[in-house]
Amino acid sequence: LWIGIGCERGIAVDSLEQAVRESLQQQGLALASVAGLASIELKQDEAGLLDLAARYGWKILFFSAAELALQPVPNPSDQVAVAVGTPSVAEAAALRAAQTKDLIIPKQIRYFESGACTVAVARSQQETSSRLGQLWLIGTGPGSLDQMTVAARTALVQAEVVIGYQLYLDLIQPLFRVGQVIEGSAITQEMQRAERAITLAQQGLRVAVVSSGDAGIYGMAGLVLECLARRGWDGADPQVEVLPGITALQAAAARVGAPFMQDFCAISLSDLLTPWSVIQQRLEAAAAADFVVALYNPRSQKRTQGIVAAHQLFLQHRPKETPVVLARSVYREEEKILLTTLADLQMNWIDMLTIVLIGNHKTWIHQNRVITPRGYQIPTE
Ligand code: SAH
Repeated sequence: LWIGIGCERGIAVDSLEQAVRESLQQQGLALASVAGLASIELKQDEAGLLDLAARYGWKILFFSAAELALQPVPNPSDQVAVAVGTPSVAEAAALRAAQTKDLIIPKQIRYFESGACTVAVARSQQETSSRLGQLWLIGTGPGSLDQMTVAARTALVQAEVVIGYQLYLDLIQPLFRVGQVIEGSAITQEMQRAERAITLAQQGLRVAVVSSGDAGIYGMAGLVLECLARRGWDGADPQVEVLPGITALQAAAARVGAPFMQDFCAISLSDLLTPWSVIQQRLEAAAAADFVVALYNPRSQKRTQGIVAAHQLFLQHRPKETPVVLARSVYREEEKILLTTLADLQMNWIDMLTIVLIGNHKTWIHQNRVITPRGYQIPTE
């Protein structure tokens, strides 16, 4: 509910409060349903109005006389128009604030010793809260719950709404608590997830958006921030926090030893959002510069040629025996890991649940552990 108020200068806060309470009571409306107060810019410094909003933690909006004059209202007044430049303050402000045509209490005038006021109430379709909304962009790690950070878990428990790709939500399902709204969706619905999360956070809810691994590495964090920016986000409302997670390349590396001890990079082979020509350029540059490389999104049912091209490219720049790691569903129940070489790379093994790590010139394997030397001089026995 939005309460539109017009009042005489200097009216006491208690009088305004009584007027609002009585108006609501008459219609059986709860004070707890009030989103805020709305009035005319002329009243921006009206102490009673500001105090009343502060008393209940309500938002308070002020509209210019010109804006209010444009709003059709049931009870316009010539007298008011002459006094403040719009034929309605209370009704017009309530309707403007609620962005509706649904006025549920038309203007009522009340007289007090400290002055007179008008109160009108409109019902908004859009839920509002005086609380600042919160968006947590959470990385849940590669799979098993013990690979998730404590900070991410805490945010997840505090969230009122959890939004994510259904498969990732399934992985963290034991962490959900009673009373949370869980909204899972299909893998391709990233944009819808981002928009939904922002809309709910703007209504004052605490919303967690879940990505696997790290939210800022081929995850939802960037998309949500982009959408916020496009909506003219002020940086403060809603509050936004990115909570890091263990990304797939770290998880895979940990399982096989220490392949990333020298400079490395990640390249996604998915050409859904990046043209293949760009991906190819990056592959060439990485291969030529002897980066240890992690290939994300290496091969889907439809996209089978990218990994073949990448393989050929690396063979041109690195020895056949260069260690390659195929790591599938790391830290999940179905985890499978294969240590192999560039020469023996098995394409059929690779799918969208796999990450491919390719060593640099110096990477070697000892006792099934992949080691990329950092460069220390180590005496041998
Ligand atoms: N935000 C995620 C990456 C999403 S892109 C992260 O930081 O890890 C999806 C790709 O990540 C998959 O195609 C796969 O290549 C890789 N990936 C994600 N989780 C994985 C896991 N548990 N095991 C192996 N690869 C994984």
